[in-house]
Amino acid sequence: MRARAIGLLISVLSSCADEPRRIDVELRDGEDVTVIPIDDLAHGDRIVFRLPSNIVGFSIASFAHEGTVGAYYIVSPSGIRWVDDYRVGKNPELLLSDLLVSVAAVPQTDVFGTMDVEPGDWHVRFGGSIDRAELWIRRTEDGRFRGGTVDVDAYVAPNILDNQESYVRSVLEATFPWVGLTLGDVRYLSLPAEYTVLDASEFEAALTATSGERMPMLNVLFVAMLNNLDGTVRGKAARLPGYSGSRTLASGVAVALEGTLEEDVYILRHEMGHFMGLFHTTDYPTGVVDPLLDTPQCDETLIETAHHECPDAGNLMSPWMILDGLTESQERVIRGSSAYRGLSSAKSMTASISFSSPISPTIVPTEVRKVTFSMEERPMISCSGVRVETPSNGVSCRSGSFRVCLALAR
Ligand SMILES: [Zn+2]
Repeated sequence: MRARAIGLLISVLSSCADEPRRIDVELRDGEDVTVIPIDDLAHGDRIVFRLPSNIVGFSIASFAHEGTVGAYYIVSPSGIRWVDDYRVGKNPELLLSDLLVSVAAVPQTDVFGTMDVEPGDWHVRFGGSIDRAELWIRRTEDGRFRGGTVDVDAYVAPNILDNQESYVRSVLEATFPWVGLTLGDVRYLSLPAEYTVLDASEFEAALTATSGERMPMLNVLFVAMLNNLDGTVRGKAARLPGYSGSRTLASGVAVALEGTLEEDVYILRHEMGHFMGLFHTTDYPTGVVDPLLDTPQCDETLIETAHHECPDAGNLMSPWMILDGLTESQERVIRGSSAYRGLSSAKSMTASISFSSPISPTIVPTEVRKVTFSMEERPMISCSGVRVETPSNGVSCRSGSFRVCLALAR
């Protein structure tokens, strides 16, 4: 009897409780990433929004004027708590809440047995000193990744290397294609001379001074040396995941150029991995592991004594990566991220492509080649014996010129 009375009381209370604010999600045709601003938020506010079935991923950026901020929870229509208590998945160590701005993305973990974004009503509750938020939704025609391009604003400090402008260009060009993404539009901009050696507070100042208007995009700061609070590092991502617009503390990554192309490319890819939502496979020195079940991990003794022998040493997201391998789940996280301009439909996959000159590069078996052509009006590709990578695995068409990767058919 008493239990029944309590049950009644609870149901009365819950029916009186504030309903979450419903956010209308209007996805327009031809738009691969839709950004929905949500204003006038306060600690504890809840929203609900309905997603269709063709979503590749979404992220929620939370903003505050002071203090820390973040999504307290993100719950799927079937009740999966993708973010819980500001943390990714079930991992108590992987905190997303941060100073002034933080981003949470779905999917960032594979521990729930799926990385698909469920259709239906998603619930989010905000915390900290939240003022406003942005919901970034990525979709394709059928919810499958179709390829995309990363637009980059490259901020280059003076006096890093000889011929640094052409070197930065070659680093960016060698970084892509990567995980089915190609390099999009690049703007080269200058950083003030005092940022050639960049410390933590200057990194924040430089990020908030970024000026790009495009969204999504990636700011990359190229410097000679990068100082963290606890020492010198080769690369740094502002936040994990980062914010794919400008002027915030989360707006980009930094790379201290060494001058060795392969290494500098690895560093940039590693930082982009963080920016797009990946944690270290095994963090150093904490030993905290990422929320992905298909990534290798390293045990504590090996970390201390012989980290080059760690099972994850060949993974791009190990802190001492020596190779740039990625697992399927890691690629899935990247593809769901907000950081690129995506292709949305099968139509764009077979989009007319043409070359003003015939395709006649010498194709070396198994080698992937980048060939740049200019576009013609009525394009057509025909290659015998070669596989032309379609936008679903890494090519996108842009007006003017574009790059295509050719590899021998397997
Ligand atoms: Zn790292």
